[in-house]
Amino acid sequence: MDDNQRLAALLFPDVTETVDDLERRFPPRDLPEGAKVTRFAPSPTGFLHIGGLFSAFVSVLAAKSSGGRCFLRIEDTDKKREIEDGVSGIIEGFRAFGIAFDEGVTGFDSESGDYGPYVQSRRADIYHVVAKKLVEEGLAYPCFCTEEELTALREKQEAAGTNIKGYFGEWAACRNLSFAEQEAKIKSGAPYVLRLRSTGDESRKFTFDDQIRGKIEMPENITDAVLLKTDGIPTYHFAHACDDHFMRVTHVIRGDEWIASVPLHIALFRACGFRPVKYAHVAPVMKEENGGKRKLSKRKDPEAAVSYFVEEGFPKEAVLEYLLTLINSNFEDWRRANPDGALFDFPFSFKKMSQSGALFDLVKLRDVSKNVISRMDGETVTRYTLEWAKQFDPDFYAICEKDADYVRRVLSIDRGTAKPRKDIAVWSEVRDSVSYLFDDLYTPDYALPENLSPADAAQILRAYAAAFDAADDKDAWFQRIKALCEPLGYTPNVKEYKKNPEAFRGHVGDVSTVIRVAVTGRRNTPDLHAIMSVLGEGKVRARLADAIAYYEK
Ligand code: GLU
Repeated sequence: MDDNQRLAALLFPDVTETVDDLERRFPPRDLPEGAKVTRFAPSPTGFLHIGGLFSAFVSVLAAKSSGGRCFLRIEDTDKKREIEDGVSGIIEGFRAFGIAFDEGVTGFDSESGDYGPYVQSRRADIYHVVAKKLVEEGLAYPCFCTEEELTALREKQEAAGTNIKGYFGEWAACRNLSFAEQEAKIKSGAPYVLRLRSTGDESRKFTFDDQIRGKIEMPENITDAVLLKTDGIPTYHFAHACDDHFMRVTHVIRGDEWIASVPLHIALFRACGFRPVKYAHVAPVMKEENGGKRKLSKRKDPEAAVSYFVEEGFPKEAVLEYLLTLINSNFEDWRRANPDGALFDFPFSFKKMSQSGALFDLVKLRDVSKNVISRMDGETVTRYTLEWAKQFDPDFYAICEKDADYVRRVLSIDRGTAKPRKDIAVWSEVRDSVSYLFDDLYTPDYALPENLSPADAAQILRAYAAAFDAADDKDAWFQRIKALCEPLGYTPNVKEYKKNPEAFRGHVGDVSTVIRVAVTGRRNTPDLHAIMSVLGEGKVRARLADAIAYYEK
């Protein structure tokens, strides 16, 4: 036994497994050539940021479009950031948006897949096996420096004006302790961290090929980064190398704040004897402000939280559709060519991603959402509206619950047609848009266009009430309105009216406006014939009578 082996045995007396055992426990995945294995790896903060949904969606798309796999891993090594059961909130967030992982964490205390555990705090044994090997090979060592000593080191480096600050080379006091010194300290119970013994050289550069940004050249890492903290828990860096290797990840998709750490990460993969992964560094989701761009902020922007979109009632399809327009610049062309294509069939590519950060624009999202909802049939709109209302508008839900079939007929007006209505962007707008169809919500506004008096309206309505036949189809219905015009001094022909306005009291548009206002209490509505069919003869007659009474008052 040499000193390194003696040190490894002293530091990890209970570790009996070897890295080779782990290689066998987590064999390479049996996937087709070119299949990408990706993961989304949040900390359990309970909060799903729109940027997180964005990255997770990219990870799923990269895997799906290549016949690979994407899993969810929880990175809970930073106890400070963790909140109690921060996992469920994240999983709920993904579920609400229809993002499904192939394996990994599925709940507070559950997971599926052959490459777990998928929660880092349950992987201590794995990290310790790898750490032990590094110590045996002289590539890692215990560091006993205290907080105060590290602060003093930093101050000395400041004063000396060193290029690189940190624990490295000459400055690394514990790097060259003898085994006897190490053993004495460990036996005395002195706390220590485990550090990488860097073999990097600051004057040497290496390049890596970022999937989104292309070639990036950086100097090698030279610092002796911490691998295990005093409590034996790994740092992000060390866990990243161990987990992404043994979970057989091919492409690490993560925020671009990690680019600066790539030299260390590559050094760690090499020291461990692992083949480095490929990286795709995603720029943050941005927001326009005062003509400039800034990151969406959890504190300042309600739309930074994925829950905002659920509460507002954006359909998940619309949010994903919109995110795809931000993810790949050619998505909108693809959508035009494939109006009914499933989102996950889109041929995603890293190369078409923004390097500077996509701008998140709520107005644009609303437009996308209106289009997405316009493509849904009445059945789907009803189901989503009721799901949303049940949670966020119980009063409206209670009204709807009285007659589900009626609600379906209301929400089917002007849908599934060649030119479907596009007036709704979020489920929370449905109530206002259809309130006139529910007696419980109906508060008519009988205001008339300027050229019509209440007496005119009453006269038109009395004539219409006498002529109205609930059995009319749309053509017959309109013919009947036209037929009312001339006897009352209006013309059924708008062009004629424009040519000679003095000759008439108004035109057919005025007559139908009066009927529309009387039946719906609004000037603008979707197809009036469809509305009257849904309301039914009884309600239509009652509303005509109410309006006549109002105008005659
Ligand atoms: N847990 C890391 C974070 O939340 C994930 C980075 C990664 O995907 O590797 O930033």
